[in-house]
Amino acid sequence: MATGESASPSNFIRNIIDEHNRNGRFGGKVETRFPPEPNGYLHIGHAKSICLNFGLAADYGGVCHLRFDDTNPAKEEQEYLDSIIEDVRWLGFDWGEHLYYASNYFDQLYEFALKLVKGGKAYVDDLSAEEIRAHRGTLIEPGKDSPYRGRSVEENLDLFQRMKAGEFPDGSRVLRAKIDMAHPNLVMRDPTLYRIRRAVHHRTGDKWCIYPMYDFTHCISDSIEGITHSICTLEFEDNRVLYDWVLDQLDIYHPQQIEFARLNLEFAVMSKRKLLELVKGGYVDGWDDPRMLTIRGMRRRGFTPESVRLFCERIGVGKKESWIDMYWLEKAVRDDLNEKAPRVMGVLDPIKVVITNYPEEMEEKFEAPYFPDNPPAMGYRDVPFCRELYIEREDFMEDPPKKFWRMAPGQEVRLRWAYLVTCQEVVKDDRGEIVELRCTYDPETKGGWAPDDRKVKGTLHWVSARHGLRAPVRLYDRLFSVANPGAFKDRDYKEFLNPESMVLMPDAVVEPSLAGAAPGSRYQFERKGFFCADPLDSTEGAPVFNRIVTLRDSWAKIVEQQKRETARLEREARKTKNKG
Ligand code: ATP
Ligand code: MG
Repeated sequence: MATGESASPSNFIRNIIDEHNRNGRFGGKVETRFPPEPNGYLHIGHAKSICLNFGLAADYGGVCHLRFDDTNPAKEEQEYLDSIIEDVRWLGFDWGEHLYYASNYFDQLYEFALKLVKGGKAYVDDLSAEEIRAHRGTLIEPGKDSPYRGRSVEENLDLFQRMKAGEFPDGSRVLRAKIDMAHPNLVMRDPTLYRIRRAVHHRTGDKWCIYPMYDFTHCISDSIEGITHSICTLEFEDNRVLYDWVLDQLDIYHPQQIEFARLNLEFAVMSKRKLLELVKGGYVDGWDDPRMLTIRGMRRRGFTPESVRLFCERIGVGKKESWIDMYWLEKAVRDDLNEKAPRVMGVLDPIKVVITNYPEEMEEKFEAPYFPDNPPAMGYRDVPFCRELYIEREDFMEDPPKKFWRMAPGQEVRLRWAYLVTCQEVVKDDRGEIVELRCTYDPETKGGWAPDDRKVKGTLHWVSARHGLRAPVRLYDRLFSVANPGAFKDRDYKEFLNPESMVLMPDAVVEPSLAGAAPGSRYQFERKGFFCADPLDSTEGAPVFNRIVTLRDSWAKIVEQQKRETARLEREARKTKNKG
């Protein structure tokens, strides 16, 4: 279900598992794994894979392993490893005792490689990486055999053992599977299984100077762990034949690899390389920048794990590449927070209101429910009221158009939970900027109740100027301003960074109850959206708020506009290409 319209419990992977359960292939067992390479932080795409793997295991009463695919010592760091563990936990999943590392299997992998060599199924090749590439052929041309392909088993055994012993320089030799250089599937043209690389591994130190390749490691790791369904993304479809070949040659337990379409999300980039570049280049404030769709970024922004899971469930899994509209992610966040976030009042861009007929020294407190739809659910807080208040600058117009129900000269409006007020006078500074609105209130409308004969259509949020708490608010928006920033061959995706992806509202004022907002806590600011007290920048009594998401979909409009812009750029790019 690529459109995400409903949460359908059935999908093609479940159908395969059900079939296996019927025919008894795995004895009714379901064991999956999530196999991240610890070379970056997890993002929303990984979340899809995590929800899928852990979700299937949970639904079928099985287990899901967390396995670090740590076979590339140069790019891997402990920092990434720790973050992955934390992020998968945050998403709400638990692997129990099933935490594994591909590097734990290095000895076994080496033994399996020896077995292939002894069986004449692998050989040591002295060609350089470049020569190997040149020999591989193309989709329409067969490859050429390496001159070293005919080495005897004894010679291969000797050379491979000496590769391991460190007798040869990096890159001078590789171990290759001996399959078929004319195979229609390029993956099967004698793929490399081991390479020489002197690098300190984060777990095995300098014990090894040869490291196994992904295609060799992955299937064997799955086999060792007794995985039943090895679920990966579509780009590994061609590699499935090799997955099966290795396990068949070694004659060991054989899981089923199943491929699904990866998540592509509009207005975002998900490649680790690009995310790293954004962080390293200072285009964002780190991996946890609230605009990044990394798990950390979403968490800091204020997304709940439930909303990320809901999103993943709704978009479902399929076999066809598709692009998901950001609308679905935001909708999941809204749907989840709508049930959980207490309603409070915060004025992002304040303008002062003075209630001229309200006594100077007087103060009142209004008891306002946190969840007006069902007050007992979340209780009440006191909202103080006095002669000086703030309302949102955009909620006033001196010369309003028809149907502007908010504040305008002579037009009565409701201040939420408080009173009906009417603007009598507009005070401006020398430059003609409005600095203050002078209003009168009707003491008979306490609580904001309008008598039957008075039509008051507008209800505004407000904060007492005397009691309100200044709290900077950051309005986050999409990081890119086109739907697919990576789609333009001649233009760098960074050219499409949205300059307004973060707008700071330095003068924002929130109701005093928010002085106690715990870092990380989430609220709905009435009429303004869902906000989260930033977990890092908030201190006791001094919260800093992040906008998690607006209340309504502001995307529909923008997306249409962006899609047109994207189409225009594509046409432009095609034109330049045709000219060139
Ligand atoms: P790379 O291989 O380029 O380093 P990767 O995103 O594939 O990047 P891995 O650590 O290998 O990173 O990913 C772990 C798992 O997450 C893999 O099984 C992969 O299929 C899955 N995954 C990664 N990106 C997505 C995505 N966009 N949608 C769904 N699953 C994904
Ligand atoms: Mg990968």
